[in-house]
Amino acid sequence: MDKDKVMIGDYIGTIEEFLPGDGTYSEDGKIFAANIGTKVVDSQKHVAMVEGKTLPSLKVGQIVFGEVATLKKNVINVMVSKIQGQKGVLNEKTMIYVSNISENYVERPEDMFGIGDVVKAKVIKIEPGMIDISTKGGMGVVKAFCRRCRSELLPSAKFNGKMECPMCGQIEVRKVSDDYGNVKLQ
Ligand SMILES: [Zn+2]
Repeated sequence: MDKDKVMIGDYIGTIEEFLPGDGTYSEDGKIFAANIGTKVVDSQKHVAMVEGKTLPSLKVGQIVFGEVATLKKNVINVMVSKIQGQKGVLNEKTMIYVSNISENYVERPEDMFGIGDVVKAKVIKIEPGMIDISTKGGMGVVKAFCRRCRSELLPSAKFNGKMECPMCGQIEVRKVSDDYGNVKLQ
């Protein structure tokens, strides 16, 4: 076997030589790398493949999902793990600035999210080492957990606009996404 680093679109061989295996695609009788990784050619089985992970990368405008990691006065840190409509898992540090939480004035941003909550947001700015996301436009928390007992919170029937813990009765506030409770992750 011979092993080589390849980029997406790199020429690997012809379909007369090999069967296109995992991580490859064929076009006009030629095989190309579909992933970044290592080209692996099994000359006994006549299979060419590319081993490696396909890491999705963030782009401005994408809708993403992630977990709230830290809450500060002016910024909420979210570890983004998924891009809507795309396969694969990533692990990107992002932040929501106070001014990107809502169209309305937010008095206490640290009260609008809880550690471990799952957030739906839009990527609005990418700079080296800094990715800004926003929950404006009806986005926000899609899964929230009780600060007291960690049960999943439900929209409160009694206190409009607030969240209620079905286990301990705790009432909390969140910047809730329009589709709270209806988002399927994985
Ligand atoms: Zn609770």
